[in-house]
Amino acid sequence: MITPNLLAKLDLFSSLPEADLTRLAAKAADIRLTPGAWLAREGERLGFLVVLKGRLTLRKQINGKELHIADVAAGDFFGEVNALLDLPAASSLCALTHCRVAAFDRQQLKELMESSTECGAFIRKVLQTRLEDGPRHAMELSKVRVQAFGPREDPYLNQILKFLKSNRIAYEWQDAPAGGDGSSAHTAPSLTIDGIPVAHPMSERVVAEAFGIPTTPQHRSYDLLIVGGGPAGLAAAVYGGSEGLRVLLVEQNAMGGQAVSSSRIENYLGFPSGISGEDLAERAVRQAQKFGSELVLTRRVTRLQLDPSGRYRISLDGDDHVTATSVLLTTGVSWRKLEADGVEELLGRGVSYGVAGIEPVNLSGKRVFLVGGGNSAGQAAIALANYAASVTLLVRGAKLEATMSQYLIEQLRRKSNVRIETESKLESVAAHGVLSAICTSHRGKPSRRRKADALYILIGADASTDWLPSNLDCNEDGFIRTGRDVTPRLFGDNGRAPFLLETSVPGIFCAGDVRHGSIKRVASAVGEGSMAISSIHQFLALQQEAAQVPVSITDGTQVTSHLNFSSN
Ligand SMILES: Cc1cc2nc3c(=O)[nH]c(=O)nc-3n(C[C@H](O)[C@H](O)[C@H](O)COP(=O)(O)OP(=O)(O)OC[C@H]3O[C@@H](n4cnc5c(N)ncnc54)[C@H](O)[C@@H]3O)c2cc1C
Repeated sequence: MITPNLLAKLDLFSSLPEADLTRLAAKAADIRLTPGAWLAREGERLGFLVVLKGRLTLRKQINGKELHIADVAAGDFFGEVNALLDLPAASSLCALTHCRVAAFDRQQLKELMESSTECGAFIRKVLQTRLEDGPRHAMELSKVRVQAFGPREDPYLNQILKFLKSNRIAYEWQDAPAGGDGSSAHTAPSLTIDGIPVAHPMSERVVAEAFGIPTTPQHRSYDLLIVGGGPAGLAAAVYGGSEGLRVLLVEQNAMGGQAVSSSRIENYLGFPSGISGEDLAERAVRQAQKFGSELVLTRRVTRLQLDPSGRYRISLDGDDHVTATSVLLTTGVSWRKLEADGVEELLGRGVSYGVAGIEPVNLSGKRVFLVGGGNSAGQAAIALANYAASVTLLVRGAKLEATMSQYLIEQLRRKSNVRIETESKLESVAAHGVLSAICTSHRGKPSRRRKADALYILIGADASTDWLPSNLDCNEDGFIRTGRDVTPRLFGDNGRAPFLLETSVPGIFCAGDVRHGSIKRVASAVGEGSMAISSIHQFLALQQEAAQVPVSITDGTQVTSHLNFSSN
C-alpha cells in the first residue's frame, strides 16, 4: 500500500500538507513490476503515473522497430498529457528493474493540480516542456530514413512500396537518380535504409528482413498454425495466444488481409468514427504479439499433410517445414480477374486489383477509373476523390442500390468529381508504357475511348483453396465447409461430429471469408477467428486424452505417455 511518507519523499509532492498526502496515498493504485513487464503500451489509455522505485524504458514503434526514447526513473512522472486530454499513449513503458509506480486517474490528477499551487505549477511546467519538445523529438525519431529509387510505374518497385505502406513503414520516393547527361539513369529500382542499400535482388522478404520483421518460424512445432493474417487470423492469434496456446500465424503478404484496402471501416463495433484497415491490423498485430503469438510475414503456406504421429506437417514456400497439432485456415479471398484486353499486361503500370497500399496523394489531379459496384468500390471512390481530378465508377448493373450500401451511395453523390456509369463494361486498356486510355461499352454498344491515368478493379473475390488437401470438403466455388455443413461421409467415422468451424478433416478448422456461408465482413471474420479457438481447445483436449494411452508395462505398472503438444 502506498503511504503518505512514500509520496512525501518525491519532489513532486514535497510541498503537499500531510492531509493532502494522506488523501492522495489512499486513492493511488500501487503497481509493482518485475523487469521486462510493461507498465503501458502505445495506444492504451493512461493514468497519471509516478515512479516510486526502479527504472523504466520509454519505447516507440517506428518503421517496424521498437526504438528506445528515454529512461524514466524514481521521481519521474508520465501520462499527465494523456490523462488530462484523454489521449492514448504515444509510446510504451517497460520496466528495466523491479519497479513500483503510483497511478492516479484523471479526476485525481485534476484535483491535485487545482488544490496545490506548487504541485500544479510543477506538473504544468513539465507538461509544457513535453508539448514543446514533442515536434522536435518527432523529427529526430523519423531520422530512420527509407528512400526508394526508381520509376514510379515500375511494377517491381510498386510491389515493394505497397509492402512498405502495408507495414506502415514511411518512405521517401525519388525517380531513378539522374545520369551524367542529366537524363534519368536506367537502373534497377533500389531501396536504402539510412543510406545503406537493401540487398539485390529485392523481394518483399528481403525488405522485411532488412527491417527486422520476422519471416522464419522460431520453433519446429506448434499447438496451432494459422494460415492467413487477415482479421480472422489475427483475432485467432490474439485469442489463441491469450489462452496459452503456442501459436504460429503465417501470412504471405502484409498483415491485415483485405481489410487494409479499406481506408475507413465504419461498421466495426467500438469505432464510431470508423477506423482504417491499416490501423486495425496494426493494433491487432501488437495485441497478438503481446500474448506471445508468433507472426511471420512474406511466407506462403503451400502444403498441409498429416504425419504418422497424427500431427500436421506444414510446408512454407522457401522449403521450411513446421508441425502443428491443429490448423486454422483463414485465407480469405482474392480478387476476381477481369477479362478485358490489355489488363494483365498493364498490372502495376496504372492498372491494379484492389487499392491496398496505394498512395492516394500520387493521384492528385489524375483521371481515375474504378470497375465495380460493391461496397469496396464505393469506399475506394470516396477515398480517391479527395485527390483525383475525377473518379469514374464503371458499374455493370443497372442500379447501384442492388450492390452497394445506401450510406456509401449517399456519400458518393455528395462528391462533385465522382461520376457513376451504370450498365457499363470495360472493354480494353491502352498504354504508352503506362496506362493512357480505356475503352468501355454502354448497354453492349461501344462508347468513346477516354484518357485514363489509373484503373482499379474491384469486382469481387474468390476463394483460392485448390492447394489444400483433396479430402477437404469445399462447395462448388471453393469455399470450405465447416461444422454441420460438412458432408458426413467425408468427415468419416471419428466417433463424433465436426466441432463448430471444424472442416471435414479433423483438426483443420476454418474461419472468415474463405468459409462457406460466412458473412464477408470484418466483424464476422474477427468473431469467427475468436470462436474457432474454443473449438480448437476441444479438439486439443481430445488429442491429449487419446495420447494418454498405456505404452509399456514395467514390473506390473502401466506407464502413460503424454503427448507434448508444443515440444521443439
Ligand atoms: C476494399 C475493401 C473494403 C472493405 N470494407 C469493409 C468494411 O468497411 N466493413 C467490413 O465489415 N468489411 C469490409 N470489407 C470486407 C473485409 O475486409 C473482409 O470481410 C475481411 O477482411 C475478411 O477477413 P479474413 O481474415 O477472412 O480474410 P482476408 O482479409 O482476405 O485475409 C486473408 C489473408 O490470408 C492470406 N493468405 C491467403 N492464402 C495464404 C497462404 N497460402 N499462406 C499465407 N497467407 C495466405 C492473404 O494474403 C490475406 O492476407 C472490405 C473489403 C475490401 C476488399
